[in-house]
Amino acid sequence: MSGGAADRDGLSAAEAARRLARDGPNALPEREARTAWKIAADAAREPMFLLLCGAALLYLLLGEPLEGGFLMLMVAATVGMTLYQEGKTERALQALRELGSPLALVLRDGSQQRIPARDLVAGDIILLAEGARVPADALLLSCHGIMADESLLSGESVPVRKAVAPDLPGPARPGGDDQPWVYSGTLVVQGQGRARVTATGARSEIGRIGTSLGAVRRPPSPLQRQSALLAKRFALIGLVTSALLVLLVGWRDGNWLQALLAGVALAISVLPEEFTVVLTVFPALGAWRLARSHVLTRRLAAIETLGATSVLCVDKTGTLTENRMALRRLWCAGSAAAPAPGLPAALAEVLRVALLATPQRSHDPLEHALQRHAALAPPAAPGALLVHEYGLSSNRRALMQAWQPPEGGAALLAAKGAPETVIALCHAPPAVRGAALAAAAAMAAEGLRVLAVAQARHAGPWPEDPAGLPFELVGLCALEDPLRPEIPAAMAACAAAGLRVVMITGDHPDTAAAIAGQAGLDARAVATGPELELGDPAALAERLAGVAVCARIVPEQKLAIVQALQRGGAVVAMTGDGVNDAPALRAADVGIAMGLRGTDVAREAAELTLLDDRFTSIVEAIAAGRRIFANMRKAMAYVAAIHVPIAGMALLPALFGWPVLLYPLHIVFLELVIDPACALVFENEPAEPDAMRKPPRARSSQLFGGRAIGHALLEGLGVLVMVAAAYAYAVTHLPEAEARAFGFAALVLANLALLLSNRARDGSVLAALKVANPVFWAIAGTALAMLLVVLYVPAAAALFRFAAPAPATLAMAGAIGLATVAALELFKLATARRQPGIRAPQPR
Ligand code: ATP
Repeated sequence: MSGGAADRDGLSAAEAARRLARDGPNALPEREARTAWKIAADAAREPMFLLLCGAALLYLLLGEPLEGGFLMLMVAATVGMTLYQEGKTERALQALRELGSPLALVLRDGSQQRIPARDLVAGDIILLAEGARVPADALLLSCHGIMADESLLSGESVPVRKAVAPDLPGPARPGGDDQPWVYSGTLVVQGQGRARVTATGARSEIGRIGTSLGAVRRPPSPLQRQSALLAKRFALIGLVTSALLVLLVGWRDGNWLQALLAGVALAISVLPEEFTVVLTVFPALGAWRLARSHVLTRRLAAIETLGATSVLCVDKTGTLTENRMALRRLWCAGSAAAPAPGLPAALAEVLRVALLATPQRSHDPLEHALQRHAALAPPAAPGALLVHEYGLSSNRRALMQAWQPPEGGAALLAAKGAPETVIALCHAPPAVRGAALAAAAAMAAEGLRVLAVAQARHAGPWPEDPAGLPFELVGLCALEDPLRPEIPAAMAACAAAGLRVVMITGDHPDTAAAIAGQAGLDARAVATGPELELGDPAALAERLAGVAVCARIVPEQKLAIVQALQRGGAVVAMTGDGVNDAPALRAADVGIAMGLRGTDVAREAAELTLLDDRFTSIVEAIAAGRRIFANMRKAMAYVAAIHVPIAGMALLPALFGWPVLLYPLHIVFLELVIDPACALVFENEPAEPDAMRKPPRARSSQLFGGRAIGHALLEGLGVLVMVAAAYAYAVTHLPEAEARAFGFAALVLANLALLLSNRARDGSVLAALKVANPVFWAIAGTALAMLLVVLYVPAAAALFRFAAPAPATLAMAGAIGLATVAALELFKLATARRQPGIRAPQPR
């Protein structure tokens, strides 16, 4: 089906559904999702899994099948937990992918709709605009200056021009000028048009060559590399000490199998597999949480950077303001009035000319605001034909349309745009210009966006540049775009969090300053685009110091602004929506695209997409970024610390000839607590109460640097000393099995103490207890219940080689747990002031 009504109204919903069922979705075969089997197979290749299997085998060789069997059961439980966690991560990522999947603007049943690009079918009429990724192969039906970047398919890096051609032999290959075909996956870098879909999914050009967008894998982030290195070092230390231990014990006792078991236990206790868990689970779940507050993450590494953001560059219109324009005032030669019935003729004329300079099918809220009052100013010459247009551009902030009267003669060129641009075009006496500029300035100071309106009569060919035409000034229109009500509070929150906000706008400096004042920014600290044309990055950085508002900025300047701020050491987040914003979004540490207004190009260049275009969502995302980073730090510290007492208690008894405390079974028990603790308890930990009252962390501050590692290891060492001392005492005063039960209980309780203490790294444990984190209680409760079972249920106790401890012994283990909490608190107090990242708020 082609031509006629279908091209005008698009397909009907029923027809589209039928075709979708017939042809399948408009999607390329995706990278296979990780199935449960694949996740399990990956888990089975982990060194930890292999070690555990080795341990189970050793138990069998030692003639202890029950222990071996039980160990395997525990291994199954650990794998089950891994599956659960990874499944959750995978689902979170999948949900993000779906939220981020592209949309297409399509004409169906005669109305424009935004639908997922997957649902497009052949025959659909799609609307293309600057900055859009073409969602399917299509034939152009109308085309206004479309240039497409087809490098993805043709390799040609220069955008090609498109043109409508009604009678065609068939689709041509991508590349080359003046073709009427557009191809799925390519970019519209300029212009707009309407096209009929000819091929979707695998039948499209891109589908045929089998390229999948987004299949490109990114290299690991610095954080991932750093922690992989850390894990490798831990593993190496573990393996070497384990080998030494096997040799020592084997040589000393002559029982090589037992020695091997002790070595395996030590290796298991040292392997820090949880580091990778923290690094994959936290950002993925963090991104999923951000999505719930309307911020979509395209690159997970951005979550880490978000928390370090120190300068926030935001657009004014739509982000700080409602983007709901309303025409408030019309001005002409000294008289002004609001648009209402009974408008004086001269003011109605201002509106009439402004409407003549307004495209009929505009998406611009500013132009809609004018059109809403069209009844007040009906056209003077009905039936006039639109014969020429001068579009809005960054070097001429005015839009002009020329109308030819039906009876012929000179055409009327109507212009509306920035007052300084339009008034400069007019041949008016200086006094008239002065009065108009003063009126514009007065209205701008109220926060209104002012447009000047002018007209010129011209016959004959239209020049490239309209500047020489005989323009006369008609008047001014002033429009209001109110500040979003939540902005002042959000700005105050930013100030408290040490975040500098810079408003960037194409609007007039007076309008921008007035809006900035209402928002709570420093309205005196204004720089304008022409002032910032400095060329020299160092000079620009200096000029930007202390600036809160950049007005009359063209998108191309945003990149220089980002780079200048970064030179000053700032971590810059920048919002943007247009094609020209893409370089700045890419250069910013965190590029933030607008989901509602933004183009595909901006979205693809950015790390984050704001689904609701609201400033408060950015502030929430930064708070979330800080929380996630802090929680990752806590989790890493806990993981590093807890491995010290466990490894120590696997090593020391063997060295000192005490009865063995930890067999692989015991260590797996401990891991069953540690794994979910680090991934779930810390992930779920609410932000520290003062997280948004501190300045952002330094760009250089590492997630887990040398100091933090040292701090964690010292903590772990403290715990080890206490548990080891208690065990040393127990082995001389209690029978072996009871001493072991006591030592193990002390270790489990000390582990919980460490968990609790790390939850409140920057505060006291009492404060942490008040903060709701149900996951912590669930895990602590389960750990205690499991401990009681292995201590007092005879069959389980036998497996663990425990004898039920007397109540006094158990109380002593409890006392060690409490003492650990107290000791860790003291340690925290002693080191708090010297810890990186734990800084008192600084006056700004
Ligand atoms: P912000 O950064 O606040 O979103 P912006 O950068 O989008 O603003 P532009 O839309 O580029 O600002 O507008 C810059 C100036 O161009 C406006 O102040 C106005 O003078 C002029 N202008 C904008 N839209 C139109 C229009 N539709 N017709 C005529 N002039 C316009």
